[in-house]
Amino acid sequence: MPKLIDTHAHVNFVAYKNDGDQVVNRALANNIWIINSGSQNETSRRAVEYANKFPQGVYATIALHPIHLRTEKVVEVLDEQEALDFETKEEKFDYNFYKNLAMDPKVVAIGETGLDYYHLQTENIEGQKALQKEIFIKHLELARETGKPIVIHCREAYNDLLEIIKFHASSFKLQGVVHSFVGRWSQAQQFLELGFHLGFNGIITFARDYDKLIKNAPLEKIVLETDCPYLAPVPFRGKRNEPLYVKYVAEKIAEIKGISFDDVADTTTKNAMRLFNI
Ligand SMILES: [Zn+2]
Repeated sequence: MPKLIDTHAHVNFVAYKNDGDQVVNRALANNIWIINSGSQNETSRRAVEYANKFPQGVYATIALHPIHLRTEKVVEVLDEQEALDFETKEEKFDYNFYKNLAMDPKVVAIGETGLDYYHLQTENIEGQKALQKEIFIKHLELARETGKPIVIHCREAYNDLLEIIKFHASSFKLQGVVHSFVGRWSQAQQFLELGFHLGFNGIITFARDYDKLIKNAPLEKIVLETDCPYLAPVPFRGKRNEPLYVKYVAEKIAEIKGISFDDVADTTTKNAMRLFNI
């Protein structure tokens, strides 16, 4: 099996508290490397811990995700197979805490960070958006200071996010990936022009909305991910996702683009190693 890299996983999340090591070992045994993404203080710390537990093939990214800027109950029905249901607790962004974590050589990027207008409370919308933007800009500053790429989370906010990157990151060569990209082709083109990569996961195995976009996007700018434990690909819909299943995302991209699985594996793995300096 050619090497694949799951560039956006959450084996550091509570869903794997009983068998996380086994899940990682299962992936490594199949030549699949993992980048675990932190979303707040605790999961960022745990992502770094995981990365250092394994001599090779497990890396981390660290950040405060926009939905963790306030306390809320998140309930979202994705389709008849999967619904999200969890609680977030408000955290303040502590620049030095994340900077210290970022110094670890196994931390390959700052993220996931960005804007999420899908999960906004109904009152004070503008205030919530302003806070998300402010904290995202601080993450851009951290990426600049540490020289690391950025992993972007974005829901229903691509245009605002593009504006911020163009304004705040034009003075330095910011690299990065828009993880779980679900925007329009016109927005994808703007990210590609800025030098960004696009990350695709199990969504593309059960929704046909992105076939054209994937056909259009150059393979040299695509990286694979699972976003596990969420978004399990076909044929595992409704089950807990894991890095091993990233091969189904590769298979789907090969099918959509009409190229071989090995071409997708080789190129996307090279892309990830170059982007994250692995
Ligand atoms: Zn994620």
